[in-house]
Amino acid sequence: VLHNSLVELKGNIRVHCRIRPLLPFDSESDDPVLQSSSISREVAHAVDDETVLVKCDRPGHPLINKTYHFERVYGPAESQRAVFGDVCPLLTSLLDGYNVCVMAYGQTGSGKSYTMLGPHSDDGPVLLLDPQSDLGIIPRAAEELFRLISENPSRSPKVEVSIVEVYNNDIFDLLAKDTVAAVSGVKREVMTAKDGRTEVALLASEAVGSASKLMELVRGGLQLRAKHPTLVHADSSRSHLIITVTLTTAACSDSTGVSGVTGSALRETACINRSLAALADVLGALSEHRSHVPYRNSRLTHLLQDCLEVDSPSATEKCISKNTRGFRKLHTTRPPQR
Ligand code: ADP
Repeated sequence: VLHNSLVELKGNIRVHCRIRPLLPFDSESDDPVLQSSSISREVAHAVDDETVLVKCDRPGHPLINKTYHFERVYGPAESQRAVFGDVCPLLTSLLDGYNVCVMAYGQTGSGKSYTMLGPHSDDGPVLLLDPQSDLGIIPRAAEELFRLISENPSRSPKVEVSIVEVYNNDIFDLLAKDTVAAVSGVKREVMTAKDGRTEVALLASEAVGSASKLMELVRGGLQLRAKHPTLVHADSSRSHLIITVTLTTAACSDSTGVSGVTGSALRETACINRSLAALADVLGALSEHRSHVPYRNSRLTHLLQDCLEVDSPSATEKCISKNTRGFRKLHTTRPPQR
């Protein structure tokens, strides 16, 4: 789904577009909504590394021939490794104390789970840390994060993980230890803390010391995720999944890396349409540099506020600002990548 506000975002927020290969179900869907949707009739072509041409020349459908520009376009043959190569520098920013966020957005079946996690097996996404398999961004980022940490043992941050699902505008803690959690996660509330940061009250987080432990938690969280099989793929879920990694160092800084896998805007209840509409409104406001950005219109955007906010300093910067020298240093380095 090529949303204009996504295309126009520049600077701290970078928008890349990935075109997956055509698959048998692209032409075979007997889902009436997919069939009536003009989106399913459009085919995207990568013109070059930054340009996408979206075409529809099927008889009986409006003629479409539109060009969109992105910071980076991946054609159907681009590897998971290449996609991760562009995300990888964010991990250095994370270790430098910036909040970073990687989000996948698109209709069901467009390749969000594949890009973020990797290919599916019958038991769900493949999440083994196997260098031979086509791992997605999350397992690769976990591996790279701990590799970077091991390269510089002097700063050795504490790494904590939390996993939430936003479903029907409710937030579920997928790492909660309560007994109910074994079935569906525990419902939590999002709130604004005294320092202005967005927090989920009572959210469980677990310290991890290796990429494999981090991925074990992700796997557990995914198993709890509400499943709503669609005709497109049995694993497609119409909820949003947010995996947050928080780094804390002894010198008071902390920073957050968030990986969001979003659900589909197609044929879901009003709730998911509302949260995606709220996300589009937030991105629209950011791309137009409006003074008011409506983060609080949905729990999804409220939750992502700290990572999407372009101008406000991260917790680290607030913390470092008490130390003028450190503050200047941070602000004379290259702009943070999000
Ligand atoms: P979503 O999470 O957006 O609903 P999926 O990630 O489940 O979509 O992708 C739908 C199907 O397309 C899956 O079978 C997935 O393995 C396949 N797929 C997605 N992207 C690619 C890709 N780049 N290369 C090969 N197969 C892909």
